[in-house]
Amino acid sequence: MNPGDVRVRFAPSPTGFLHVGGLRTALFNYLFARNSGGKFILRIEDTDRARFVEGAVENLISTLKWAGLEYDEGPVVGGEYGPYIQSERLDIYGKHVEMLIESGAAYRCFCTPERLETMRKEQEKKKLQPKYDRTCLRLSPEEISSNISAGKPFVVRLRVPDDTVIKFSDVIRGEVEFSSERVDDQVLIKSDGYPTYHLANVVDDHHMRITHVIRGEEWLSSTPKHVLLYRAFGWDIPTFAHLPLLLNPDKSKLSKRQGDVAVEDYKEKGYLKEALVNFVALLGWNPGDEREIFSIAELEKEFSLEKVNKSGAVFNVEKLNWLNFQHLRKKPDAMVLAMLKEHLMKVSIEVSRFNDQYLLSVIAAMRERVTFVKDFTEKSPYFFAAPKSYDPGVVQKRWKPESAVYLKALAAEFSGLSDPTKNDYEAALHRTAESLGVGNGDIIHPLRLSVSGMGEGPGLFDILSIIGKEETVRRIESAVNELK
Ligand code: GLU
Repeated sequence: MNPGDVRVRFAPSPTGFLHVGGLRTALFNYLFARNSGGKFILRIEDTDRARFVEGAVENLISTLKWAGLEYDEGPVVGGEYGPYIQSERLDIYGKHVEMLIESGAAYRCFCTPERLETMRKEQEKKKLQPKYDRTCLRLSPEEISSNISAGKPFVVRLRVPDDTVIKFSDVIRGEVEFSSERVDDQVLIKSDGYPTYHLANVVDDHHMRITHVIRGEEWLSSTPKHVLLYRAFGWDIPTFAHLPLLLNPDKSKLSKRQGDVAVEDYKEKGYLKEALVNFVALLGWNPGDEREIFSIAELEKEFSLEKVNKSGAVFNVEKLNWLNFQHLRKKPDAMVLAMLKEHLMKVSIEVSRFNDQYLLSVIAAMRERVTFVKDFTEKSPYFFAAPKSYDPGVVQKRWKPESAVYLKALAAEFSGLSDPTKNDYEAALHRTAESLGVGNGDIIHPLRLSVSGMGEGPGLFDILSIIGKEETVRRIESAVNELK
């Protein structure tokens, strides 16, 4: 096979908003396709009607788009092997299951849910593996036809061969074996006529010419059933790659609770897509050296399934934050400016009060200090409004009875400056300290507190030159009044 013949798919079930685990699966498929010059396909697996969530498909599509994972074939964009939504392919599954019944690889089961429940309880009591007991496999052709004519509901089950070892190879895990004894006669078509995941997935992967099945480890135990289905149809088996589980820092399985792990939430919290994609790429993959910061284009170039490891990947939010800091830092000023304006509007700060020049100098001062765009207003609100209060801890430590006197002298010195630069402010402060016979520090700390309300931040004289002389003097006067 030529690398360009690679066809992979992301096949989510629309049971909720896309979570980070789903994004990881989508990303690894996308990267593998781009790396080999193949195709990335989106297929919606919506045959479980009970778990269908309104709006989930739209969310999946818009989130993939937001993350930059454009698919080559799928819903909306179409493609040669559509439709790409399983509920629109029901007749295909129906035809295929007929073929399996015909060849003896599958059979109809008329057992009622009540009978199955009694059977299950019985097995539980006897500590047996829960498995269908094949009552309906023993029905005669006459019994089957009379059940059908009587309109009895039925499912169709896979007839798992006895005493065989089902083997397949997995790019990440090597050779994998399952004994057929451990595999249940899986339902392929439910009584509502809808296929189960297993049948629809295999039929579609075959007809959509999928070459590599890349999915989460939780699907590994389904794979022997899929292998049996490929064999029953006489089809080539795709290459499998099961991605490692995602773990919490305490090594428990990453919580699936939507609120915790939905991509939407990270987006809402202000994470950059570049950072989230970079972070998710490192959940189970590494480039084989120490590098950690990647653009999506670099990932497309570097990614390979061979470098995906088997052991669980720990989801570490600190690392994600660090990557967000790194990616935000790399963004050109103009882009950060646009994001900052958008953020100001969101938090109801009137953007028109600040010209671009002003905002760009705020960005320059804060660049090395912000992890999120929202940090511009959260860490340095004083660039957008005079302080309304003064950090009590800092007041206690830095504001002395004589501070007011020093600051008044400083304000007078500042007022005399014309169009001061950052250095002019500094020189003026030194002159004031000298004439008062005090140390620079005696003035610097209360000055910072006066203009920012805080004890730390970027260079003090940078702050002054950004907010300007009049504002600086006004803030000094307010602080003197307020703190006495
Ligand atoms: N529909 C399955 C899911 O929701 C797809 C698993 C697979 O990729 O085969 O993840």
